[in-house]
Amino acid sequence: MAGVRAPPGFTVFSASDVPPALQEGHRPYPASEVHLMSDFRFYAELNDFLPLPRRGRSFTHAVAPHESLKHAIESLGVPHTEVGLVLLDGVPVGLQHRPLGDGGRVAVYPAWQTLGPVPAVGLADVPPRRFIADAHLGRLARYLRFAGYDTLYRNDWPDAELAALARAEDRTVLTRDRDLLMHRDVVHGCYLRAIEPLEQLRELVARLRLDARAPRASRCLLCNTPLAPAAKEAVADRLLPRTLADFDEFWRCPDCERVYWRGLHWQRLRAALGKPAGGGA
Ligand SMILES: [Zn+2]
Repeated sequence: MAGVRAPPGFTVFSASDVPPALQEGHRPYPASEVHLMSDFRFYAELNDFLPLPRRGRSFTHAVAPHESLKHAIESLGVPHTEVGLVLLDGVPVGLQHRPLGDGGRVAVYPAWQTLGPVPAVGLADVPPRRFIADAHLGRLARYLRFAGYDTLYRNDWPDAELAALARAEDRTVLTRDRDLLMHRDVVHGCYLRAIEPLEQLRELVARLRLDARAPRASRCLLCNTPLAPAAKEAVADRLLPRTLADFDEFWRCPDCERVYWRGLHWQRLRAALGKPAGGGA
């Protein structure tokens, strides 16, 4: 650019390109963009996504003039699905807010906290109680089907396909992969911290306040189809004598024909659904 010499690897914009806050004390910025410095502070569970030096304290982060809050937060490692409230200089703002402004203070609160109240002003709509689970959450998917929640699961979905399906069918993405939650098609999602599937179920029940003990027809654990009651005599030829002796109520999947009854597995799952996250087995 005429009149201004930029060092190698830097681009200098004309004064009209530069936000007023940067026009004084001009200095060149890398990556061909002028950046604004904002102070970020993440609260509670959101710190899990940050490197140690950034946890529990304010730190300065450079944002591009046209960068959205959502992009800035995700570039720091925190999926937008986990964010419940953002204050910019003390005022609640939406995730699409821009620009952040030079010297702005950004406070980011989680959508959900294990301890303590959830912020009263939420950013996102309530996540839909229809789910799509990623390839590593097969057991959680089956538990949710058992509890009657419509849950898609396949162990071979590419991320882009899963995210597109979640958007098209308005489903909440369940995953332990934060990159998946940052996919542009993901609107609603839950990052699951627990590794053990029953703990994951308790975590989800607590976070979304699922009424998992309400009477609701279970879905087929294999194919997600709502189960239908089946007469004992209609399914007797497919059951072991011991099962027939111990149980009188049966259900059948209208799609794949699998037969269900309330055995030990059922009792375990009911117990798990009745306990809050972190409440132990
Ligand atoms: Zn089925």
